[in-house]
Amino acid sequence: MTVLVVGSVNADLTVRTPRIPAPGETVLGGDAVTSPGGKGANQAVAAARAGADVALTGAVGQDAFRDVALRGLNAAGVNLDGLHTLDAPTGLALITVSAHGENAITVASGANAHLTPTHLPARLDGVTHLLLQQELPPEVTLHAARAAHAAGIPVLLNAAPTRDLPADLLRCVTHLIVNEHELAALRAEGTNLERQAHSVLERGLQAVTVTLGAQGSVTVTPGGTHRLPAHPVQPVDTTGAGDTFCGVLAARLAQGDPLSGALRAAGIAAALACTRPGAQDAMPDWAEVQAILT
Ligand code: ADP
Repeated sequence: MTVLVVGSVNADLTVRTPRIPAPGETVLGGDAVTSPGGKGANQAVAAARAGADVALTGAVGQDAFRDVALRGLNAAGVNLDGLHTLDAPTGLALITVSAHGENAITVASGANAHLTPTHLPARLDGVTHLLLQQELPPEVTLHAARAAHAAGIPVLLNAAPTRDLPADLLRCVTHLIVNEHELAALRAEGTNLERQAHSVLERGLQAVTVTLGAQGSVTVTPGGTHRLPAHPVQPVDTTGAGDTFCGVLAARLAQGDPLSGALRAAGIAAALACTRPGAQDAMPDWAEVQAILT
């Protein structure tokens, strides 16, 4: 019943400014805020909050940002036996948010970029679902996917951020989750989004979910299409909505929910995460999701 996340762990350093600085420009901003981030860590925290046993394989450094990066994972009870401390800085995302709600993000991958396939667990005993993103070196993600695929363990891949998605990796994936931009980057054939998702599905997957922000999500499977409207909320900050969706989806599938139920829970949790500022700090507990589900 364990979800294994192999993914990035970062500290986020956010400053609010009147506007995003132009090249060469200095803009005075508000206080710097540090918070835990990284798609791997975010999704692991979301999955743990949704009631699953979760383990994370990843890497941090030995610097001051390490504690920030691990704060949410520790609080959520994620198993960190597979966390490596490497001789490199902890991954850091420098985030500038303007008064107009635009953002500019620079990621210094640090220790995440130094992870190699040798850091992956030798065995996958007890792992029921593997959850991956695209913030680690591609060979690490591919190696993890291959090992799970060979062991018959379902592989969920959130193909974010947008980067090349090799056919070798896709062959090992059971369920692909993308937003509209990431779907477009796959250059799938088809005149509408559902057809494009279907054409990706035909590359050998069991499910493709396209998340559509306030429009909810569409999931195509060989058995049909599930359209899920978003749970209505007043969004305050949509950072981490996609990560919440992916983590909760994996957690509920690992707990035996049917796909339709897991998708519903994921959509509600992601919507609730939009009602509070931050990424991990905004993710709901399972009781909050359940209260809406029932
Ligand atoms: P990403 O954060 O990866 O760009 P999306 O913006 O598509 O992903 O959001 C992921 C999911 O979060 C959506 O499928 C939806 O369920 C939920 N969500 C996002 N924005 C909203 C919103 N404004 N209202 C309700 N739910 C939302």
